[in-house]
Parts: sequence; structure tokens; C-alpha cells
Amino acid sequence: MNVSVRGAVMLFVCLTGGGLIAQQTPAPAAPPPAGAPAQGPPPGPGGPGRGGRGRGIQIQEGEECPPGTTEVRPRTCQAPSMPPPSIVDYRPRSTLVTAEHKVPKAKFPAIDYHGHPGQLLSSADGVASMIASLDSLNVRLIVSADNMSGERLQRALDTVRGTPDKDRVRILAGIDFRNVGPGWAEKAIQQLEADVKAGAVGVGEISKSLGLSIMKADGTRLKIDDPDLDPIWDACARLNLPVFIHTADPQEFFEPIDYTNERWLELSLFAERRYPADRFPRFEELMAERDRLFKKHPKTRFVAAHMAWYANDLARLSKLLDELPNVSTEVGAVLYDIGRQPRAAREFFIKYQDRLLFGKDSFQPEEYPYYWRVFETTDEYFDYYRDYHAFWKLYGIDLPDQVLKKLYYQNALKLTPGLPQTGWPK
Ligand SMILES: [Zn+2]
Repeated sequence: MNVSVRGAVMLFVCLTGGGLIAQQTPAPAAPPPAGAPAQGPPPGPGGPGRGGRGRGIQIQEGEECPPGTTEVRPRTCQAPSMPPPSIVDYRPRSTLVTAEHKVPKAKFPAIDYHGHPGQLLSSADGVASMIASLDSLNVRLIVSADNMSGERLQRALDTVRGTPDKDRVRILAGIDFRNVGPGWAEKAIQQLEADVKAGAVGVGEISKSLGLSIMKADGTRLKIDDPDLDPIWDACARLNLPVFIHTADPQEFFEPIDYTNERWLELSLFAERRYPADRFPRFEELMAERDRLFKKHPKTRFVAAHMAWYANDLARLSKLLDELPNVSTEVGAVLYDIGRQPRAAREFFIKYQDRLLFGKDSFQPEEYPYYWRVFETTDEYFDYYRDYHAFWKLYGIDLPDQVLKKLYYQNALKLTPGLPQTGWPK
């Protein structure tokens, strides 16, 4: 047995039966210096890291390796000989050498249809600092989807109009879905008409709380396709207002939070993103309600935020778009799904080039260039901006110019007559 002494760390290893017992004083073991041969105890029943043929833990075909071990040969599992890092501490440096094309500015002027400027619209200084960031990214127009209505909307509109950048911002109107019941629709339509008169150019972002948590006046859950809401959707069609709607959240947020859940880290970090079955409707139930809503109002134009949460299943999203010509979709916060399937995504973006809008969601200027790089380059295996969304790498999908123009601004302009329509490239 090879017992190594390194610094103050001593490892005593006993092989007992089929198991490995490591005692450390003090814990944990320090990593060996670079270039040093791997030392330490033999890695348990599997032998010294050369495959340990026949000496690992044997499993049957179709079985999984026991926790703490990995399959080193077909049906043979072995535990690492060093304490494995947690997923937050494992940060391997890629040794891949390949072409890199960082894209700080979009190739064509972009409209961010999923803007959350929030407080930045409450002062001229806020607007100016936001516009400076947008200039550095070639985002020409930001659409505020902050669900504003009444006085709050009016104040934001006044602030923007008092700046030299008044044509760089447009605002969507919110709808208050609390207390839906008799008389609700008339009031909601009145408010919407007033908001449009004030300058709102569409409706949104209708938040995920519609469906997930908002209750009706009678105490039942307000379903997304509740007939009491029908008049407001018809009003949106009559007023020629696109409806920007976010429904539910990624599918995995509704699943058990075990080690097979690909959003485990995010769900562990953010407790409010967990939707356990005993407290929330299921993902499929919400998708069905939303898709029925789209179908029930063919004259109302809907923009499903976050690629309708079907970006991980482009065939399903294709089917939705094929069946419902009144629906477009927006790419905010699902870049991790687009960039992990570059061939299928490219094909999808080309086929549905008239149905896709650019949007970023959370306003973090340093994150937009990741979108440009995925959409515009052929780069391979590059970092995403949030490890907790995606522990994998992204690939560029290299969209043709004509598709980029539609995605970045032409589709948004067509869908939303209230946006500044002049001065865009042909
Ligand atoms: Zn949003």
C-alpha cells in the first residue's frame, strides 16, 4: 500500500472487504502540486486507476453505478481516490484551442423586446445610462415589459419623453389580474384603453403568476384560458396590441429536485423557483391552458416569451407555431438551449425566421454579447454567462443576415405598429 504524507495531511487507508475507508487529519486533502505524479491511496476495490479490470463494483446491464462511483469499464464502477469536488467547485479549464469571435455589438441594430429597465426609467439620468449601455451593444430600441399601468406607466412615459432618447424606448402596458370575476373585464379594458392612449404599444409582460398563483375573486386559481378573460384578449386584437406573455417556467422547475434534475443548482440556489406538485399546477397543465388561450383567440397576436419554454424541444415548438399562426416567440433567457443544439437550432431559426423576436430579459449589459455570439458566429464550445442555468458550453448557430435582421428588429416592427418604424436598415 502506498501511503503518502503531504504537508500536514495524512491519509490512512484501510481496505476492508469491498469497501474503502479513508481517515484524514485534518480534512480535506490538499490537491497535489501541478506536475506531481498522482499519489495517495489506491482507489479502493477498483485498483490504482488503470481500469481496475474485474476489481471494481460490478453492476448489471441497465443498472446505474452506486452513488459516489462512476462507470470506468462496461458494468464496472469505481470511486475516485481523491475526495470529489462539489459541482460549484469543479471548474475545469478547457484545453480546446479553436477560433474565437467575441461579438460585443450586434451586427444589425436590435430591438430588445423583453426589457426590464425597471428603475432606470424613473429618471433622465437612469435613461441616459441605459442608452449608453445599449449603444455599446448596438441595441437601438428597448421595449419595457415591466407590466406598468396607470400612473406608474404615465410617469415612465413622461420621463422618457423628456430625454433626447425618447425614440429609444417603448413601453408595454400591464394588466391587473387580481380579483377576476363579474365586472372585472370592463374595468380592465377601460384601463388598457387609457394606457394605450397614454402611449403604451402592447401588453406585457403578462407574468407567470397568471396560471401559477393568481386567484379569482371566488378563491379558485385563475386559469390562463379562463373565459372571464376573453373580453380583454379580444380588446387587444381590436386595439391592434401584441400580447407578450410569460407562462410557467422551465419544465425542470416542476420536477423532483434530485441529482438527475439538470437545473438542480438553480433550484438549490433559488427556493422560489421550485414548484412542488402539492402547491402548484403542473407544467403540462399550464402549457395546455396557454396553448388553448392562443387557439381560442386567433385574431389576437401573442408573443410567447422564452420560446414558450419549448426551446429544449424544438419539434414541439415547431408544432405550436405551425398550428397557431397568431403566435410568435421570443428568445430571452433560453440561450443555453439554443446554443447546445446548434444544428437543430439553426434549422429552426431559418424555418421560423418570421416568428422569432430578440429579447434579453434581465437587464445586464455584459450578457447581451453572448447572444450575438451564438446567433452570429460558428464558434464552438464557449462559456455561457450563468453556470447555474447551464453547466454545459454553447456553440454558434451562424444565422444568415436576412434571418438576423428579422430576429433583431424586423419581426418586432411588423408586430408592433407603435414602435418607431423609420431609420432601420433595409
Ligand atoms: Zn420578463
